[in-house]
Amino acid sequence: MPELPEVTTTVKGLQRVLIGLVITNVWTDIAREVPSLKHFKGTLKETSFYKKFKKEVIGSKITKVERRAKNILIHLSNNKTILIHLKMTGHIIFGEYIFKKKENIWVPSPTERKALFDPFNRFIHVVFSLSNNKQFVFCDARKFGKVTLFETNKSDETTHLFGIGPEPLEESFTFEQFKNQLSKKPAGNIKTVLMDQKIIAGIGNIYSDEMLYNVYRKTKEICSKKSCHGVILRKVVNGRSAHYCSTHQILFN
Ligand SMILES: [Zn+2]
Repeated sequence: MPELPEVTTTVKGLQRVLIGLVITNVWTDIAREVPSLKHFKGTLKETSFYKKFKKEVIGSKITKVERRAKNILIHLSNNKTILIHLKMTGHIIFGEYIFKKKENIWVPSPTERKALFDPFNRFIHVVFSLSNNKQFVFCDARKFGKVTLFETNKSDETTHLFGIGPEPLEESFTFEQFKNQLSKKPAGNIKTVLMDQKIIAGIGNIYSDEMLYNVYRKTKEICSKKSCHGVILRKVVNGRSAHYCSTHQILFN
């Protein structure tokens, strides 16, 4: 699952190629009259929202791309911001694509780079066409990702961003602030607190494991900490796998 560093990389890539371009069309195959889950309402997974979304974004110029927690924010010239959350399996590709009407699918142009033809990149569910005749496409094998829109000057009020904690990569994020944030949940389980987006933005399962001791998915391996002979164990904390050393860590006991 993409976490803060991966989303940061995606945003940097998009900043290089999207700024100044106009969105000329939007396509999706995930919109439904009645979305399968309640929280899909107000996103591209709802047909009525998709229609509204298209009207709002087509013809607008992309002015800025940034990250807030694990959300990609694409600001437009008309005070609208597209929000994309990659969730479990989402990723974004920029390139030249061709629409195959009969199959209702998008495929890379034959002249495109080899990587775009990788099977991993074929689950294209949202496509933004741009004024330079290229596209940026949202691939999402498991379709958990989110694409929505809000008014740029109301970013503090939108439910998609409301209450998110401070950004750990900002210079203003100091050790003091880190301590203050953690102290908001004094009785909380440390892994769960680190992953709480209202405490600190952007930390997920992998990096919370790394922060607690770098042993993500090393179950049954001998602890590599000097003079520790513990074994790495896996424990489910709040429905997520946590990895820890049986000897030098007591965090989960
Ligand atoms: Zn150990």
